[in-house]
Amino acid sequence: MNRRKFINLIGCSCLSLGVHACTTAPITDRKQLKLIPESKLNAQAAQIYEKVKQKEKMSDDLKALNEIKEIGKKIEFSIGSYFDRENLDNPTVNFDWEYILIENDKVKNAWCMPGGKIAVYTGMLKVTKNTNGLAAVMGHEIAHAVAKHSVERASRSVLLNTGTKIIDIATGGKISQVNRTTGMNTVGLLSQIGIMNPFNRKQESEADYLGLIFASLSGYDIRETVKIWERMKEANKGKEPPEFMSTHPSNTNRINKITEWINEIVLKYPPIT
Ligand SMILES: [Zn+2]
Repeated sequence: MNRRKFINLIGCSCLSLGVHACTTAPITDRKQLKLIPESKLNAQAAQIYEKVKQKEKMSDDLKALNEIKEIGKKIEFSIGSYFDRENLDNPTVNFDWEYILIENDKVKNAWCMPGGKIAVYTGMLKVTKNTNGLAAVMGHEIAHAVAKHSVERASRSVLLNTGTKIIDIATGGKISQVNRTTGMNTVGLLSQIGIMNPFNRKQESEADYLGLIFASLSGYDIRETVKIWERMKEANKGKEPPEFMSTHPSNTNRINKITEWINEIVLKYPPIT
């Protein structure tokens, strides 16, 4: 059996591993493997986040940073309110939200570590262009954390016994290449928590869907999301990684799906604030 087949197999065989090894993603109810406690990953992420703050240049654009924080607060609030209202467990109850803006115009990227540690690079702002665009990107990144995609990925790597590290680490060669082309000082660090590794297609699709819901609940115009992906495609032409696109591969199918979901989500998840 090859590795990919095995990964597909464990993705839907939670039952054979026992009840405690299994959980479901919020809202979509997709079955997920959970062998690593969330608290362990959150603690590891928080440590790496502190190092990123020391090693990267923080932007002094307070206006942009405040906008990021404002969008983040709205999303935090709407997620909490939504799960309370629906009488569901709030998946962000153990989050310690934090937001930074990293000064690096070459990096068109943003991420959210397990536990709600968020970073936006100044290069990303050139693509998001406006508040709704930024909310779309942040909603997507936050959705990865809310749906515990890193816990799932780390659990798979434990099951596959791919090594002692929690998450596969990029090779030294790849790290130094990315360092050179972008001036990022923290590629190796970020790899340790999986930030430089793409999520799988199901997780990406789920983050698209949940991200639209969270942005809509927070009162943003989610129709901007499609435009972001198109601008991102354009900005990425002939460029080296790591762009938002390399960790978030885009294609027509993805954009079509998002377009398809928008009307339904606008109606089903109106602003909660
Ligand atoms: Zn993603």
